[in-house]
Amino acid sequence: MKITDPIQFLKGVGERRAALLKKLGILCLEDLMLHYPRSYEDWQTVTGIQQAPIGEACCIRAFVDHTPAEQMIRQGMSLFKTTVTDGSGVLGITIFNNPWQAEKLREGEEFLFYGRVSESFFRREMSSPQIAPVEQACLHPVYPLTEGITSRQLGELVRRGLAEALPQVEETLPAALRQAYDLIGLREALRGVHAPADMEAAQAARKRLIFEELLLLQLGLRRLRTGDRTLLAPPLPKGAGEAFLTGLPFLPTAAQLRAVAEAEAEMARAVPMRRLLQGDVGSGKTAVAAALLYSAARSGCQGALMAPTELLARQHHATLRTLFADLLQGQTLPLEGCALLVGSTPAKEKRAIKAGLAAGTLPLVVGTHALLQQDVRFANLGLAVVDEQHRFGVRQREALENAQGEPGDAAEGAPQRSCHMLVMSATPIPRSLAMIIYGDLDISVLDELPPGRTPVATYCVGAALRERAYAYVKKHLDAGRQGYIVCPRVEDDGEPGGLAAAEQHAEQLSRDWFADYRVGLLHGKQKAKQKEETMRAFAAGELQLLVATTVIEVGVDVPNAVIMVIENAERFGLAQLHQLRGRVGRGAGSSTCILISDAGAEETRRRLDVLTQTNDGFAIAREDLRLRGPGEFFGQRQHGLPPLRLADMLRDAVLLEQTREAAQAITEKDAALAAPEHRALARAVERVFAG
Ligand code: ADP
Ligand code: MG
Repeated sequence: MKITDPIQFLKGVGERRAALLKKLGILCLEDLMLHYPRSYEDWQTVTGIQQAPIGEACCIRAFVDHTPAEQMIRQGMSLFKTTVTDGSGVLGITIFNNPWQAEKLREGEEFLFYGRVSESFFRREMSSPQIAPVEQACLHPVYPLTEGITSRQLGELVRRGLAEALPQVEETLPAALRQAYDLIGLREALRGVHAPADMEAAQAARKRLIFEELLLLQLGLRRLRTGDRTLLAPPLPKGAGEAFLTGLPFLPTAAQLRAVAEAEAEMARAVPMRRLLQGDVGSGKTAVAAALLYSAARSGCQGALMAPTELLARQHHATLRTLFADLLQGQTLPLEGCALLVGSTPAKEKRAIKAGLAAGTLPLVVGTHALLQQDVRFANLGLAVVDEQHRFGVRQREALENAQGEPGDAAEGAPQRSCHMLVMSATPIPRSLAMIIYGDLDISVLDELPPGRTPVATYCVGAALRERAYAYVKKHLDAGRQGYIVCPRVEDDGEPGGLAAAEQHAEQLSRDWFADYRVGLLHGKQKAKQKEETMRAFAAGELQLLVATTVIEVGVDVPNAVIMVIENAERFGLAQLHQLRGRVGRGAGSSTCILISDAGAEETRRRLDVLTQTNDGFAIAREDLRLRGPGEFFGQRQHGLPPLRLADMLRDAVLLEQTREAAQAITEKDAALAAPEHRALARAVERVFAG
């Protein structure tokens, strides 16, 4: 039987079993082989009956005193009882509704019993134990299951499948690599993960398989980025960005200067820069991006800035134009040289922008996903900046950096033109995760807020205090400040209830509580024009209060807004709440965020309390990650990555670091993975990324 053959062909798998296995994602023999155990039951360490810890799973090896006697409880319910002895004591065994298992227990024979021991006043007992012959004193794999199949049955199939499959498995890792990182062979690892001789063997097997998983992921990501080619970016002269930054109306922070210097040093080379700029909300990432874009434009290259929402793109566009105007007074870089390309840009204007980009006459463009369209080509893109990177998928980022010249116009094997790239994120990502998602990437951190900011004082209250929260908002509005009330969007954009929540709430608030104030409404389903007008009015101070959904989460910058109330705070992730509250506290003076939540669960309260206790975005992200796991943390946005079967990015940080090292060494020597010792690796990368 071939490794790719449908699983029905395996002995013991009929139509019914095949259907069950399909639910587990097992379609062919290989899938079965890669269906790894979740954990192991230790049937190897045998405990004496007297020594067995009460209430914990353990394995007892004992002789059957007498064949179990059946006792009928009621119609259709049977119960078998016996006792077993192991020299240290006597253990009562109870079996429910399983005559088949009971029959096996012949008087005077020895068996293994796995389960939890309880103690009544006269005897120790084990109820519904798993029972196996003494030959099976080994580690028993525990598989992820679906109803209708047991771990033991699955284990049996895997054993049979492995016998067929293993001879066909080719080693993927070169011998030198295995030796350097102390890794066992692939066949041994596959056998060891399903049927380990002991815990140590299981560990060795897992280590090898996790290493491979992480290595393939990183090699694949590199390949996705470079293909087989060497990428080249235009080298940009240093210094212009730094000069720009120091020429701004405010004093740049040391962290901003450092980030710009780091990036400029790297962009001076023909090797494309790949840099992640991490900085908490309000740390001034935009100014860093502006400085670098300016630097690119000054040297005759083009620059692009991509943002996840139209609102944010528009704001960036406006910011850049102001910054450039302040410094340049239109001399070195005409303002018309910075265009805005978003979905709602009129068709005629779009055409003109695209023509300008393709001809190289338009130096700068700010936009949304609209920049990723096939027909957006750059004549000479020097730097691409992606803001709020976590909102884009890996492949979208790649699309932007490959938008040079005509698609596929380079000769086969020739170096491919690419650009420098800066991705920005306010969601601080642990280094290990960043490496997985971004592949090989350097990180600059803005670990310093511009001076004069006071942390946003954050409180968490029940809905009973809502009116007091509103009164507090009024106090601020009366004092000439502005505020936000944020409502969750139920589920996703498509959900009508979600919009109604914000809309109705705004209406209600403007009718009763805030009848004497100017209230605006902002949500994702509004027309771009309307959103823009609302934002403009709010920024200009014409509106005092903005009732909004999370569209204001990213970027929106109004320094006079100093109070925010977040309704149903439990609906949001911690990192997201932190981003939201970053909308206030943008100017000097103190600001406040009130989280309203009635989901009274202890858990929710504890979660939200993290925000009241710290303003450190990194600490919050770590906690978020711990509570929700990396999958949730990133949502569905990082699509395009193969799933990890065994590796855990937090737990396996050491292996992650090692595989990064290894991936780098391999690609430096043999980027195409064409050397004989890398062929199997190349095939494996292809397989993993094909799915
Ligand atoms: P984020 O990092 O969250 O994207 P922004 O780039 O939007 O932050 O900056 C937040 C605010 O801080 C903006 O109003 C910006 O003009 C201002 N800002 C940026 N750098 C400085 C600085 N060095 N000193 C004072 N204000 C600054
Ligand atoms: Mg920003």
